[in-house]
Amino acid sequence: MGRILSCEKLRVVKDQPYHYNESGLDVTLLGIPQYLCDSCGASYASISNVQKLNRVIGNFVCEKRKALLRPEEIKFLRKDLQLKAKELAQTLGVTPQTVSRWENGKAEIGEAHDRLLRSIYMMCASERKSEQNCFGVLDVFKGFPHDRKKIIQPKEILLNPQEWLGGMGGFCPA
Ligand SMILES: [Zn+2]
Repeated sequence: MGRILSCEKLRVVKDQPYHYNESGLDVTLLGIPQYLCDSCGASYASISNVQKLNRVIGNFVCEKRKALLRPEEIKFLRKDLQLKAKELAQTLGVTPQTVSRWENGKAEIGEAHDRLLRSIYMMCASERKSEQNCFGVLDVFKGFPHDRKKIIQPKEILLNPQEWLGGMGGFCPA
């Protein structure tokens, strides 16, 4: 909003589609009041509830876009997950260089990572929507060490009754 101060007279336009370029995607919003400066051509939009808007866009990308995720879509999903490239890399078990190649279009994300990124996004979106204190899927992946082939762990899973007979614990009701 910094530039708005340098614009003197702003004209309000209410019936024109707004190109939500801030998303990095080709998104057009209807019914958004816009403020146009006739002298410099700048336009400003008043978008309320940007978080929810981004969530709707992210879910649309994950659910409706059938092709492999495009570079700008990967970047959008990562940003809405509030992850740095390095953190997304750790979450998906790839190097940060791989993530940057996906985001600058030098490499395709590939089937498995495409599905994993969509899954993580949709799970996080529904966790936030329900405002449940679900076990964070992101934290699970982030907590994985680098070389998991070397991990030695018991095969047995030992459970006490209260671990499944008690309340819902930290789990999602779904
Ligand atoms: Zn201006």
